[in-house]
Amino acid sequence: MLNPISDSLFARAKQLIPGGVNSPVRAFRSVGGAPFFVKAAHGATLITADDRELIDFVCTWGPAIHGHNHPRIRAAIATALESGTSFGTPNPYEVEMAELIVRLVPSIRKVRMCNSGTEATMSAVRLARGFTGRDKLIKFSGCYHGHSDSLLIKAGSGALTHGHPDSAGIPAAFAQETIVLPFNDPAALDAAFAANPGKIAGVIVEPYMGNVGFIRAEPGYLLHLRAACTAHGAVLIFDEVMTGFRISAGGVQAVEKIEPDLTCLGKIIGGGLPVGAFGGRADIMDQLAPLGPVYQAGTLSGNPLAMAAGIAGLRLLEEQDPYARLDRLGSQLRDAVLSAARAKGLPVQVPQFGSMLSIFFTSTPVRDYATALQADAKLFARFFHACLRDGVYLPPSAYETVFLSTAHEGSAIARACEVMTGAIKEL
Ligand SMILES: *Cc1c(COP(=O)(O)O)cnc(C)c1O
Repeated sequence: MLNPISDSLFARAKQLIPGGVNSPVRAFRSVGGAPFFVKAAHGATLITADDRELIDFVCTWGPAIHGHNHPRIRAAIATALESGTSFGTPNPYEVEMAELIVRLVPSIRKVRMCNSGTEATMSAVRLARGFTGRDKLIKFSGCYHGHSDSLLIKAGSGALTHGHPDSAGIPAAFAQETIVLPFNDPAALDAAFAANPGKIAGVIVEPYMGNVGFIRAEPGYLLHLRAACTAHGAVLIFDEVMTGFRISAGGVQAVEKIEPDLTCLGKIIGGGLPVGAFGGRADIMDQLAPLGPVYQAGTLSGNPLAMAAGIAGLRLLEEQDPYARLDRLGSQLRDAVLSAARAKGLPVQVPQFGSMLSIFFTSTPVRDYATALQADAKLFARFFHACLRDGVYLPPSAYETVFLSTAHEGSAIARACEVMTGAIKEL
């Protein structure tokens, strides 16, 4: 495919930006080839620097649940912009945002805004440690919680795609405080608690995994996590940066009816601008400065433009309650892939819930990191490039989640089903 403008931008970028990108997965290393540059995006469509139109199933890695450049969000940003971009004082939008989040996410009584999902998880972990006076943290292999030191251990997402799940530059002493367990394995959790009595500050989990592809918790598993944390006095942290406001307005916790102690948010709550948040039980949140001894801060936290964008996005979700519609789109795509693969005799797993799904080329049901890795990543790369050639942009890695938006309704989803069916026939 000829993308002369993208290719020349990438050549310039590589001279100045490590790998030419500001976030590793964008470099296409896992599927091969060179990334395209995007100059505009509207609804379900990306417009590349070379004027190709692509149906986008990455949705800026989750945030764009209403599609790109939604008029209501754009108008909210424009209105806020009239009054200035940052004040360094409390502003009215922050209160409105906190009220929305507390109303919609069942377990959150108090919330603090920050600037990214990474900040949210990093701060929630510090808070869990400060609250319990303990150091050790349990996480699950393949769960990605941003790139802070305690959490970038057996992480998914770009860290997995690039084949070095443990990053250089993390002190061994930090890594030793993080216990990594398989997901969907209650016995492994019980054994870890038994082996570390009184030492576990918290358990952090993506309640439905989205960073080795999409993997749901098995029935009863999250309840088991809840009960074990309560029994051992550990803080249960749901990282709903990806699933918050996407799986439902109240996230996975509302669907599964489990209340974690702390919840991390990001992505959708920024409406396309950089935002994170963490919140939960009032007694834990009140340990934060200025009330308590756990320090956390941010020059641009609660930024008025970002709050305005996020509030507009969340209000749209409240008004439209699009989750049944999104689930129909997700199952349409899943069914198209399954029937094309069946016709060809190609083994495939397509876990899907609402607007999240993954395409794993394997005959083994995918329930954790180890089974996800059994999927054929080379075959996925061929599938990816066949779809891209025909105008459908999937996540550029076998281990990322496909996202849909309300803007995919109608012609975009129909065309995508057609393209994916054709791409599978070709494999
Ligand atoms: C994206 C993501 C993060 C990190 O958020 P950033 O805004 O990229 O720092 C953390 N946790 C989960 C589950 C995510 O999907």
